[in-house]
Amino acid sequence: MTDPQMWLQIQAHELGLELTDDQLAQFERYYELLVEWNEKMNLTGITERAAVYEKHFYDSLTVASAADLNDEVLTLADIGSGAGFPSIPLKIAYPSLKVTIVDSLAKRIRFLDEVVSQLGLKDVTCVHGRAEDIARLPDHRDQYDVVTARAVARLAGLNELCLPFAKPGGMFVSMKGSDIQEELDESRYSLDKLGAKLMEVKRLELPIEKSERHLVIIAKTSATAKAYPRKAGVPLKTPLL
Ligand code: SAM
Repeated sequence: MTDPQMWLQIQAHELGLELTDDQLAQFERYYELLVEWNEKMNLTGITERAAVYEKHFYDSLTVASAADLNDEVLTLADIGSGAGFPSIPLKIAYPSLKVTIVDSLAKRIRFLDEVVSQLGLKDVTCVHGRAEDIARLPDHRDQYDVVTARAVARLAGLNELCLPFAKPGGMFVSMKGSDIQEELDESRYSLDKLGAKLMEVKRLELPIEKSERHLVIIAKTSATAKAYPRKAGVPLKTPLL
């Protein structure tokens, strides 16, 4: 890899994104904070600079190939964002996005608040709580244009954590690795129960590492029924199968 920043700029261009020097500086500051805080808490197993740029930053930006994020008033909720993936890279690349991050681990929310402050990001709200509880609040229920989740749970359970946040007419983009057919098959019933429909599955490959990725694109067709999400812990323990 050439310089990771230059590499990201070229790869982002392939995704239809032109990153400015200021945005590249934000990615670099994010990288520094990630590595610094990772010494005090468990944020990521990937710390080598080029690998972070490819497996975290670039991988997060691929959501742009599933959803048009250019709209000035677009709202995005990232569920189980951990150290900020995919929402922080997306926010850096699309400054007009209005982002809400939900994570059940307070330490990670503290890290994200620091990232938001140090990078000077506007319109990012980091919420500490279980998705099952936050999705019951009127400010968050059936509200978002785009909902994202990467590496949180298998799709059948994940649908119940994420779809209640999407507005009818909005979408959920679930970022997955390889071998997803079984997960897709077992998620059908949950889609039906949660007023959603599978639209498309996009296959991608990381440019250098070459590992396979999938974006599962789901359309929310109607408001979430009162019964969902069930009590915190239940969706992942007893998924809608
Ligand atoms: N999305 C990030 C990524 O791809 O690097 C983080 C993935 S990490 C494996 C899963 C994250 O989901 C953790 O930060 C965890 O605290 C959060 N999480 C798990 N269950 C959750 C729930 N029910 N509500 C909110 N966050 C949850």
